[in-house]
Amino acid sequence: MTESDKGGAETKVVMLGRCPNCSQRAVLAYRPFCSKRCADLDLGRWLTGSYAIPAVETDDPDEEDHPATPPDKF
Ligand SMILES: [Zn+2]
Repeated sequence: MTESDKGGAETKVVMLGRCPNCSQRAVLAYRPFCSKRCADLDLGRWLTGSYAIPAVETDDPDEEDHPATPPDKF
């Protein structure tokens, strides 16, 4: 197999998107992350729970405190 001389400049670039951790180009080995570090970091976040869904309860009664302004138009 000595035909690998053809198109040697052609690099196999696979678009894997961006690393969700640092927005760098992802690597096939660690996709969707750019490196093992980022992959581990993300995994760690999941394990620690800091990656959980933010418990933001939109149950604020003050939110719907519409002051019923009466029609004070003469
Ligand atoms: Zn990364």
